[in-house]
Amino acid sequence: MTATADPSLAPPPAPKPPDHNRTGIDFRRPMPRPKVRGIVIDFHCHLLAARHAKDWFEAADHYGIDCFLTMTPLEEAVHLQRDWPGRVNFIVVPKWQDITSTTLSAWLDDWRRRLDMFYNLGSRMVKFHMAPSTIQRRNLKLDAPELEPFFQSIVERKMAVMTHVGDPDTWYAGKYTDTAKYGTREEHYAMWERVMQRHPDVPWVGAHMGGNPENLERLQSLLERYPSLSLDCSATRWMQRELSARRDEARDFFICNADRIMWGSDQVSGDDRHFDFLASRWWVQRKLMESAFIGRSPIFDPDLPEEGQTSLRGLALPDEVLQKLYHDNAVRFLNRIGVRFDHLAQR
Ligand SMILES: [Zn+2]
Repeated sequence: MTATADPSLAPPPAPKPPDHNRTGIDFRRPMPRPKVRGIVIDFHCHLLAARHAKDWFEAADHYGIDCFLTMTPLEEAVHLQRDWPGRVNFIVVPKWQDITSTTLSAWLDDWRRRLDMFYNLGSRMVKFHMAPSTIQRRNLKLDAPELEPFFQSIVERKMAVMTHVGDPDTWYAGKYTDTAKYGTREEHYAMWERVMQRHPDVPWVGAHMGGNPENLERLQSLLERYPSLSLDCSATRWMQRELSARRDEARDFFICNADRIMWGSDQVSGDDRHFDFLASRWWVQRKLMESAFIGRSPIFDPDLPEEGQTSLRGLALPDEVLQKLYHDNAVRFLNRIGVRFDHLAQR
């Protein structure tokens, strides 16, 4: 038989790899648990619905992650707490779906009621999402007088605060260039600091490396000036991009501030996010923290051009630093506000 060029016999074009796995990794290959005594805690994530939990915990178990501080809508919280006892603790969040459909005062009233209900479910930390786009949409700043009753309530109940202030430099250079509308990064940090100055004793988490992994000097200064402040290192695409870009400096920062950083993923569940998607986040986060991996990240970064995607550069943090990031710092922080993941504590 002679080979003829029959186009109908040509192999179909290879399917485009998914954005969570551009490099064809088998996320089901075993990976040893992090080398940590005790439970591994993901300090910042979004398990949004009880129906997402099966895939979530399957992937979490595969990557050795035990317990979660999650920003779950109140409507889903009871179901999750009942089905996964001891593995989730909820961070108080408002009803985000209503952010533009209600008046500010009705939205805040609802949030206050949610705070009470979350508190009764064991929540001891309140999240204020104050990214530039959120401030603009809700027309509410962190230092607004309308939020002062929240802070009074937080102080009275000895709760903690998590804030999202700032966004990636790539966004300030892109979607936030209208500074009359969105403000500047300096204004956003001045706003944050005014409120931390008012409440110096409140245990505080600056989400996503304080919203500015591009500027470790700023973070160092914040940590030095605000002793109650800790950072979480969540947000996979943002951290893989910016920590890899300044790998040695970032490694020094993590080692130098090893008592002040909690590990978190910012994993967000979804109806179309199954094992492989969820695994991709924890795979990258663990490679970034624990290994000296150098190579293309499996996760596509829409903030970078196709030809300039992130080359992951692992921090290879020392074991004693990983122990603090994955466990010790979270446990100590949670102890201050009366939260324990008891039933797994012996693990
Ligand atoms: Zn988040």
